[in-house]
Amino acid sequence: MEAPMIPLAERIKQIKPSPTLAVDAKAKALKAGGADILNFSVGEPDFDTPLHVREAGKAAIDGGFTRYTPVPGILELRQAICRRYAEDRGWQYEPDQIQVSCGGKHGLYNMAQVLFNPGDEVLIPTPYWVSYPPIIQLAGGTPVFVPLAEERNFDLDPAILRDYVTDRTRGIILNSPSNPTGSVLSRQALEAVAQLAVERNWIIISDDIYDTIVYGDGGLPHILDIDPALQARTLVLNGVSKSFAMTGWRIGYTAGPKHIIAAMNKIQSQSTSNPSSVAQKAALAAAAGPQDFPVEMKKAFLPRRDYIVRELTGIPRVTCVVPKGAFYVFPNFSAYYGKSVKGRVIDGSVALADYLLEEALLATVPGIAFGCDPFIRFSFATSMAIIEKGMARLREALAALA
Ligand code: PMP
Ligand code: GLU
Repeated sequence: MEAPMIPLAERIKQIKPSPTLAVDAKAKALKAGGADILNFSVGEPDFDTPLHVREAGKAAIDGGFTRYTPVPGILELRQAICRRYAEDRGWQYEPDQIQVSCGGKHGLYNMAQVLFNPGDEVLIPTPYWVSYPPIIQLAGGTPVFVPLAEERNFDLDPAILRDYVTDRTRGIILNSPSNPTGSVLSRQALEAVAQLAVERNWIIISDDIYDTIVYGDGGLPHILDIDPALQARTLVLNGVSKSFAMTGWRIGYTAGPKHIIAAMNKIQSQSTSNPSSVAQKAALAAAAGPQDFPVEMKKAFLPRRDYIVRELTGIPRVTCVVPKGAFYVFPNFSAYYGKSVKGRVIDGSVALADYLLEEALLATVPGIAFGCDPFIRFSFATSMAIIEKGMARLREALAALA
């Protein structure tokens, strides 16, 4: 007799696996099977971790730096992070205001666990990065989606923001430059957030993971530059995944008020204990060493961005906001929804992304994963040759829809 299946906890039933990681896994499996897949799905730099950072990781292993570290991360790394913020941004933090976590995603998880109770609402400007809603939900909180309009370059409209505020609102997640749109928030939007946050005692979560990848010279307005006093209600999330091409090392960090960081350390002490000792030494080399790598990477991304935006906007009935940062474009393909090919109806972003994967061998992420069905996300952190080939295939695949 077959044993009955062990039941799962309620909390996991409402959570779907990360769609970005799922598409990437599917693309890689198809590729391993011999298909000529062009992968525009997962967002990770197509660069190797810089040599001096890898060497620091190796030296940590060879030097036997392979034991537990302090729960919040090694002091040298937290000091280096404080120095970076002081020198680069003029923000003052002490090491006990920093937690190093197993990637930026884990930092978000830790903060949600210590901040939100059932019934608490957290505002999420939409389109959003795929992991924000589940991370809030796993903490028992309720994500509240605040729409960002393509016509406003996905900036946050203060009037619309106010419509979504209730007495249960506890905070907001900002992500500028944004994944998936590449848009940056205007000073005016940040001022509105700051005002509401102070009036209503909100926490502001500022996910700055793409802050080294900003094109042009408009600068990057930041919530802490609106008023430094906002430090008392802001958690600044960052990490080395994107800036130093270190996605696999799993090092992120949060800067914020001492009592929140201390609470996050409690969670960390009871879950992961500490991020990998070896990866922390590598991240130290990244944070304390020369900062030219992210600049070089950005220089490489810029012509790719220009090219992919030109190609996308050259396709009939496709619109595409020019990303000001990060390495994503989020074109609107809704004019193609309702069309069909060989009896297959393209009724939304999932159907379009499936069609592109199966017929054009293009891996992309459907906009619905980011809360916006009219769009598809392309990561251009891939070679120019792949982008050129991909755009040609895309044009052909769309032209076949009638
Ligand atoms: N925030 C955003 C907006 C991201 O795109 C990512 C990338 N996965 C992260 C946070 C977390 O990055 P990681 O966990 O790889 O450090
Ligand atoms: N942030 C990246 C992306 O959006 C990596 C995948 C993930 O962590 O979801 O593709």
